[in-house]
Amino acid sequence: MGNGVSGKASANLKTIYLEVEGRKHKVVFSKHSSSRDIKDLLSSAAGVSRWSNMMLKSQDGSTVCIEPNLPSNTARTFTVSQLKSELAKQLSHLERKVEAEALKAIEMQHLSAEITEIREQIRQDRITWQAIKDNVKTNKNDRRNISISRPMPNFVKMLSLVEHMYQDLGLIEDFEINSVVLRRFLVAIQQNYRLNPFHNFRHCFCVTQMMFSIIHLCNLKDLLSQMDLLVLMTACICHDLDHPGFNNTYQINAQTELAIRYNDISPLENHHAAVAFEVIGQPDCNIFANMSKEDQKKIRQEIVMLILATDMARHSEIVERFKSKLDTFDFHNDDYVSSLKMILIKCCDISNEVRPIEVSEPWADCLLEEYFMQSDREKSEGLPVAPFMDRDKVSKPTAQIGFIKFVLIPLFELLNKLFPQVAPVMIMPLREAYESYEIMRLDEEAIKAAATDSVHTDENGMESCSLMSSSSKARWSPTKAGKPTMGVSREIREMFHDKNPESKQAEARSAIKNQKKAEDAERSLNSSRDKMAN
Ligand SMILES: [Zn+2]
Repeated sequence: MGNGVSGKASANLKTIYLEVEGRKHKVVFSKHSSSRDIKDLLSSAAGVSRWSNMMLKSQDGSTVCIEPNLPSNTARTFTVSQLKSELAKQLSHLERKVEAEALKAIEMQHLSAEITEIREQIRQDRITWQAIKDNVKTNKNDRRNISISRPMPNFVKMLSLVEHMYQDLGLIEDFEINSVVLRRFLVAIQQNYRLNPFHNFRHCFCVTQMMFSIIHLCNLKDLLSQMDLLVLMTACICHDLDHPGFNNTYQINAQTELAIRYNDISPLENHHAAVAFEVIGQPDCNIFANMSKEDQKKIRQEIVMLILATDMARHSEIVERFKSKLDTFDFHNDDYVSSLKMILIKCCDISNEVRPIEVSEPWADCLLEEYFMQSDREKSEGLPVAPFMDRDKVSKPTAQIGFIKFVLIPLFELLNKLFPQVAPVMIMPLREAYESYEIMRLDEEAIKAAATDSVHTDENGMESCSLMSSSSKARWSPTKAGKPTMGVSREIREMFHDKNPESKQAEARSAIKNQKKAEDAERSLNSSRDKMAN
């Protein structure tokens, strides 16, 4: 024979013709092949999975059994069909996969939509198996290009909300931000936050959400440009990217890679900004791609400036600069607006205590947990330990009282000078938070005092002391839920409450009320003076 196959060999061969999607295929196999081999061969020729329920049909529509005795069909081709139920099963499997992969929400939404579309096409007999395979292959390729892993499920909602904020502010429309690119950008941002107790994606979301709230509260849409709003929102979402959970002091004292790279100058903030622009530098994630080169340059400068402004080591410098502009504030002057934007991102970054106590108190716990992790490490590495991070020296109320009184309230009061609507919405909750931490602190001190008293007055001194070691008296761990009395043993607390039923707490509340009255009186006196001066 012309093809070199001997007559004997060709006698053992069988040739059949298949029609697949309108195209004819010639399939040759040995008569000694098993049914399974023949089916695999036919599947391969038809371009369907070897595991599928492939069926062979003759011209009259009857099913032909796939086996070695399969009749040859030189003139009348067989057609290959795959059961629709098989397709439906495979699609359901794909859909279940989509649900399981909901973590990867944004990309998965597209895939899910495509499955629905394919299902509809099948229902209408408009699709081929090859097309389905191609479709799935395309999606796989997309995923590889995006090179992102899965966001956690509770991040999905936060990502959608941030997207909504961009939409609400008109940023997507005004800067022609491609919505798929925005989603990829947000997913990539989320992926580049670490799972620290405090400096994590949830914190960055809260900061961004607070910025969005302030933009509305202070009508910034009427006072600032759309570019300013884009800078503010994007800086917020990027401002703590890849935070390692150890602050600048640690970086510098331990001479970490970041401290060396940035010469001890705001190493973390420089890193956050650098990671932000690494993400934006990916064409798939570049939300500024449709802006002019000049605008892209400006937006980069400003985002870097705002992220760097979140270094608390620069707090006084930034506050003083803003103070000096307040009396003559000019919303048309770039220097003034830059100064305001720095104050805004700073306010948002440390704004947890503005939120209801059910929200803010767990955040304080998380921050202390991160601080304690750092101080434990500093101790183990022989590095200096800041007292406010030392689990043996700090408690939640003492940490928060000083911060609210000396940092938060003065900062928000500064903003209030430009936007009087800030006071009732943000400063009032800060004062309330201050009061509740004062009560907590006085409670804590009273309990400690009672515990010390009981140790001194107890007849069986040694036994009583064993109720609580001296270090555990002051020691408090944020990982345990509840009030800051948790380091004190139940026995001691009961002892205290038996001795002083509510008297010390009442004393504390009354002291705070008196202090508040004095502050109110001072405020009204100042306001009267202001009015007289005008
Ligand atoms: Zn932050």
